[in-house]
Order: sequence, then structure tokens, then C-alpha cells
Amino acid sequence: MNSPTPGTCRFCGCNGDSCNLPSGDKCMWLGPSRTVCTNPACMSAHFAEVARKKAEIRKLTRRPNSAQIHELIRRKKRGKKGRAA
Ligand SMILES: [Zn+2]
Ligand SMILES: [Zn+2]
Repeated sequence: MNSPTPGTCRFCGCNGDSCNLPSGDKCMWLGPSRTVCTNPACMSAHFAEVARKKAEIRKLTRRPNSAQIHELIRRKKRGKKGRAA
């Protein structure tokens, strides 16, 4: 992954004040990182990327599913066999 350069929009490559927006204004920086401008196309690309990253993180930090938890509990109980509860 290429790292974005602050001061250059990573989607359209503008300098943060050169896109012509539908409102007639020029774009601005979307955040303090200064790598995404407020051009609607850049913003939607940026938010799509954020959503994708969040989904990836969720996948990585997924907890064991209930079947696995039940299996663990069953093993624990089996280990205590012979003792009065
Ligand atoms: Zn842009
Ligand atoms: Zn721009």
C-alpha cells in the first residue's frame, strides 16, 4: 500500500484547494491528515475505504462463536468429573 502524502489528495491528487465543487466553492481538506479533499468523489471513495477497513478489523477481532464456547465449557465440566458439584 502506498502511503498518502499530506498536502496532496490521495484520490484526485489536488492540493486541497483546487477542485471545483458542485456548490461553486473550491475543495478543502476533509481531515487534519490532509490526504482527502471535500470533492464528493474523493469523500465517497474515502468513506468506502474506511468502511472496508472497519469490516476487516471486525473480521480479525471476531470472537469465538457460541459452538466453540460450548465445546470449551463441556471440556471443563468433563475435567471435573467425579467431584460433587
Ligand atoms: Zn480529492
Ligand atoms: Zn480537491
